[in-house]
Amino acid sequence: MKHKTIAVIGLGRFGSTIAKMLASMNHEVLGVDIDSEVVQKISPFITHAIVADTTDEEAIKALALSQFDLVIVAIGGNLQANLMTAMLLKELDAPKIVAKAENNIQGKMLHKIGVDQVIYPEYDMALRLVQFLTRDHVMDY
Ligand code: ATP
Repeated sequence: MKHKTIAVIGLGRFGSTIAKMLASMNHEVLGVDIDSEVVQKISPFITHAIVADTTDEEAIKALALSQFDLVIVAIGGNLQANLMTAMLLKELDAPKIVAKAENNIQGKMLHKIGVDQVIYPEYDMALRLVQFLTRDHVMDY
């Protein structure tokens, strides 16, 4: 497998788990968060960790994210920060953007902005669990 350069913006439970998993698969991972404590905590586990507010045009520009293979926007709960970050990434020509949405409306807005893929982690996880739990051999057990 070819190793990629991947940036993960927003290092909450979801973002930090993804960032660590990718790093353990030997991808080059840059983690970005506005909260310095979160950044400090993850820094031993990923390639680089940086404190930045990605809704700030100059701050996000300085990260040179157009040079990464993939940027994951893992800010979900803060709608404004999620949408603004996605929009700035589009303006900066990030080659591939994947963004987390908490609901359908947020997902629609992210699609309108032009992100390449919208993910709904809680919905996707619930769906997989339901599919697994209702498989015949699990129900019979
Ligand atoms: P999770 O479920 O993954 O824990 P959450 O929904 O509880 O996430 P979010 O609001 O999605 O919390 O925030 C996830 C992370 O994104 C937090 O660590 C937060 O500090 C970071 N974050 C929020 N706004 C910005 C921003 N403007 N720039 C960079 N990071 C941000």
